[in-house]
Amino acid sequence: MTHSSVCEICGQGHIVEQCDPLDVTYKGVTSAVPQYFLVCDACEIEQSGSEQGKKNRRAVTAFRKSVDGLLSGTEIKALLEQYHLTQADAAQLFGGGPVAFSKYVNDEVAQSESMDTLLRLVRRSPSVLAELAAMKGISVMTASKISHQKKTHSETMRIVRRRFAFKIDHVEYANSDERSMDIRSSRGPVAGRTRPVRSTRSFEQYPSS
Ligand SMILES: [Zn+2]
Repeated sequence: MTHSSVCEICGQGHIVEQCDPLDVTYKGVTSAVPQYFLVCDACEIEQSGSEQGKKNRRAVTAFRKSVDGLLSGTEIKALLEQYHLTQADAAQLFGGGPVAFSKYVNDEVAQSESMDTLLRLVRRSPSVLAELAAMKGISVMTASKISHQKKTHSETMRIVRRRFAFKIDHVEYANSDERSMDIRSSRGPVAGRTRPVRSTRSFEQYPSS
């Protein structure tokens, strides 16, 4: 919600978001849960907003999850990040449906107790994740795979840089009087590693290539 929206009731003031804690009791536990609303700074009339309604529902769900001893949305988000899992990956691994993890992470829905137990097991042990992934036939990034892939990626980049440098050196050598054209054309397809780039002009210069 923009903080500068003009109040639709009085047409004078601007509506701003405010937050007041509200005591919510769940299973005998009472806690002050933040509740958001909009209020006009001129007529002071409180208004409801869909965004505030959503935030309020999430705040209550988060409180209920904490009373039930379930992982919070933030904790589930951290778990996914720990293993570099997307929400779609998580749904495939753990079940719950395609949008389940979006709802768990945003505290829109409380995960079941069994889902919570599974997530806690995986959080404690990467080998549990590996076993689960193997059971589901899904490839996941374990810590060792991630470090290996990073190494492979940097290795690839070194090779690419070396080849690119070679191409520029080579073309400049072959067409030393036409450098500007050839540096540009060296980014295009290369006919062969040992030959100059076949731009139109260099092709004319080397018809036999
Ligand atoms: Zn107003």
